[in-house]
Amino acid sequence: MSRNDSTPDNPHPSGVDIKELTLPALTAWLEAGGIKPFHASQIFKWIYARQVDDFNEMTDLGKQLRIRLMDHFVVNRLQQVAVEKAADGTRKYLFGLADGNFIESVLIPEKNHLTLCISSQVGCAQRCRFCLTGTGGFIRNLSSGEILAQVRDIRNELGDADKLTNLVFMGMGEPLANYDNLIAALAVITDNRCGMAFSANRVTLSTAGLVPKIIRLGRDAAVSLAVSLNATNNQTRDQLMPINRRYPIETLIDACRNYPLKKRRKITFEYILIKGINDSPDDAERLARLLNPSWAKINLIPFNEFPESRFLRPAAAVIERFMDILHQRQYVTIIRASKGRDISAACGQLRVRVAESQDQ
Ligand code: SF4
Repeated sequence: MSRNDSTPDNPHPSGVDIKELTLPALTAWLEAGGIKPFHASQIFKWIYARQVDDFNEMTDLGKQLRIRLMDHFVVNRLQQVAVEKAADGTRKYLFGLADGNFIESVLIPEKNHLTLCISSQVGCAQRCRFCLTGTGGFIRNLSSGEILAQVRDIRNELGDADKLTNLVFMGMGEPLANYDNLIAALAVITDNRCGMAFSANRVTLSTAGLVPKIIRLGRDAAVSLAVSLNATNNQTRDQLMPINRRYPIETLIDACRNYPLKKRRKITFEYILIKGINDSPDDAERLARLLNPSWAKINLIPFNEFPESRFLRPAAAVIERFMDILHQRQYVTIIRASKGRDISAACGQLRVRVAESQDQ
């Protein structure tokens, strides 16, 4: 087996994963070795468009170049540790990383599209009270190669790269807290010349509200923005999301109002409805006043209870009433059905379960 024979059975051979390199970095590496820089885009096409792992199969590269690539790089895949399949078609993947950590990615079939929810960190430092990942704390950032590998491996499993239509950064971690690796991965994801060719409109990044990074993101990448809001006053949001003490609601909404939006695009505000905490008609009215239907749409997410969670899901009638108020105020509002409720649906749940079973 050659060094670059990276397979699910042999996921972590030695060598630098070439997916850690941006296109400019690979170009610079080639130039430094006296190799024509245009080969960088050829190599990227083999890796991201044609899903090839073996440098020997990159037939439009000369033999000497292929040998040099093999001497320096590998094309890693993630190790699939577990896959849970729900009755509604949702699939949750637990991937093992080279250092023994785990991350989750979730494939979500919907009417007209197939969405992959990916992770950006191992664990999360934001400690949102309603989130299982947050309760476990932060372990480390994912590299750009590890972010890309989630998309590339699942595309490969699907067979047809076009099947996967949407990407959301809503898995484990706060993507804006891993900013440089995120931007490097986004450059490949949205590169339609030799990368993964996702339209930026079909890539959504969800943040708990790191205001300075929201402002930077608006300049650095044109992806869709989702904000995990979950409360309409600072007192409640301070309790639910500690980040609010650094960037309170007014500062957050101000950054959103100034986020550069393409024509007819809106920012999505996610609002987890929690019984007795943020689900009253007054909350709905305040939410309507806080935002503006011309640039905001609202996803209501009834709380997804997990073992030992201290919050409850509101009754269906309460959820309906909340939505009706927002509809009356002209907001595009949907109730986001919890997909895959018969599997470990809460973010971080599968990772915790597998880790617990390994401890026994
Ligand atoms: S909701 Fe998101 S930002 Fe908050 S703790 Fe969980 S993973 Fe982190």
